[in-house]
Amino acid sequence: MDDLRNTINGCQVEPVNGRWLDNIEPATGALLGRVPDSDADDVQLAWEAAAAASEDWSMSGGHARSEHLHRLADAVEANLEELARLESIDNGKPISLARSVDIPRAVANLRFFAEAALADRTEEFLTGDRARNLVHRDPVGVVGLISPWNLPLYLLTWKIGPALAAGNTAVAKPSELTPVTAARLGELSVEAGLPPGVLNIVHGPGAGAGEAIVAHPGIPAISFTGGTVTGGRIAEQAGPLFKKLSLELGGKNPNILFEDADLEAALATSLRSSFANQGQICLCGSRILVHESIQERVIDALVEGARGLRIGDPLEDRTQQGALVSSAHRDKVHACVQRAREEGGEVRCGGAPPTTLPERCADGFFYEPTVITGLSMDAVTNREEIFGPVVTITPFETEEEAVAMANATDYGLSATVWTTCEERAARVAGAIDAGTVWVNCWLLRDLRVPFGGVKHSGVGREGGEEAMHFFTEAKTVCTAQGTTS
Ligand code: NDP
Repeated sequence: MDDLRNTINGCQVEPVNGRWLDNIEPATGALLGRVPDSDADDVQLAWEAAAAASEDWSMSGGHARSEHLHRLADAVEANLEELARLESIDNGKPISLARSVDIPRAVANLRFFAEAALADRTEEFLTGDRARNLVHRDPVGVVGLISPWNLPLYLLTWKIGPALAAGNTAVAKPSELTPVTAARLGELSVEAGLPPGVLNIVHGPGAGAGEAIVAHPGIPAISFTGGTVTGGRIAEQAGPLFKKLSLELGGKNPNILFEDADLEAALATSLRSSFANQGQICLCGSRILVHESIQERVIDALVEGARGLRIGDPLEDRTQQGALVSSAHRDKVHACVQRAREEGGEVRCGGAPPTTLPERCADGFFYEPTVITGLSMDAVTNREEIFGPVVTITPFETEEEAVAMANATDYGLSATVWTTCEERAARVAGAIDAGTVWVNCWLLRDLRVPFGGVKHSGVGREGGEEAMHFFTEAKTVCTAQGTTS
């Protein structure tokens, strides 16, 4: 692959400082190409372009913005196969997943917010016969969008869609670990006729380009998805600058299986919710809590299912488990499994890199799907996010105990509940601290519903009107009745 470029003001440009970072292919450990090691100078150029484009874009009207976003969606859709392949190569995920989830959902994000751009969000409130209040929703201006490596194009478009639909221009930074599809999106945005400066994509590390976006005085809103520690750092930096902040952070999501669950469905979905994308989805259910009466059946089935997952070259259609994103991340996941052993956990399967891999992938960053039992909720393994193909299974006796265990972490992103009792489902869903609770399903997403976490899983919500509100400022104009005609 060629060296990647930043997209600034509709042009493909090299970093001002002339520095580059290596981009490594996770499945092989080989050098894929280089990515700009951008810093504050590149962010400044991107901001100048975005600021210059801001007025025309914000005044262009919802219909024009909607058409532009649909055209961008068309361009992504027309290049779906190429983008799926690039995402698989750059991230290590199975191409079947990129083809069926990542890229189609990126298209869906852009189309959803293309439609959202059409709505008039002005609200009217009459104060008796004394006043008429009109609440307008104005764009914020130039917004900063920072996204992680696990669902690269999908999560980036989840931010670009509402930001642009609401009339903002953007400086976006994908993860330096997975920059390729974002770079291609930059090119496609130009080909699709998006006006120069509306969408600027600056590559580089968090400590360089990322911090420069957060610190920039001309960027009043930051939408961030990533780890909780990074989110805290961004909040520290942005707080004194009074920036709007949306923080979508980590999770340690419980997946609760009651004794009255439809076990066939629960087990099939739990295998997916534990190991999809090698467990590198913030919504993965990394803690399976199971009623003691079905504990052995669940452990046996999960272990058998995990052992049966096909690990291999992500570019093979049949592969179900690809590589982890980097050698550092693979090592971190392995260290977490070692810690689980030290805490007294029993590793029922996995717990090491696979020994047989296709020759091309011999130096890749793979890890076997791992099931661990025998740890209480006090164990660090059950409290801290691992973000890899590692799941724990822990028994409970009563519903109250299950809820207490589910809530026994600092995180609160999502939860899954398996039961055929409607009343129990409602009770448990109500008692769990999480932004989303799935009952008898997982990862079913309706783009209209709010998405985000409580506690250390984040601040604010994305999705639907919540995102449109984040990317606008409400302005109230209160006019005394009868004073104008
Ligand atoms: P990181 O927090 O490491 O990075 C996220 C993004 O922030 C990257 O683009 C990164 O750049 C950038 N960044 C890092 N430091 C800074 C900084 N100081 N200032 C500004 N930007 C910075 O997360 P990961 O990429 O490792 O992603 C995994 C995490 O994301 C997991 O914790 C996961 O749970 C969470 N996540 C949450 C989701 C949610 O919706 N709640 C969805 C998906 C993931 P770079 O990588 O280039 O250094």
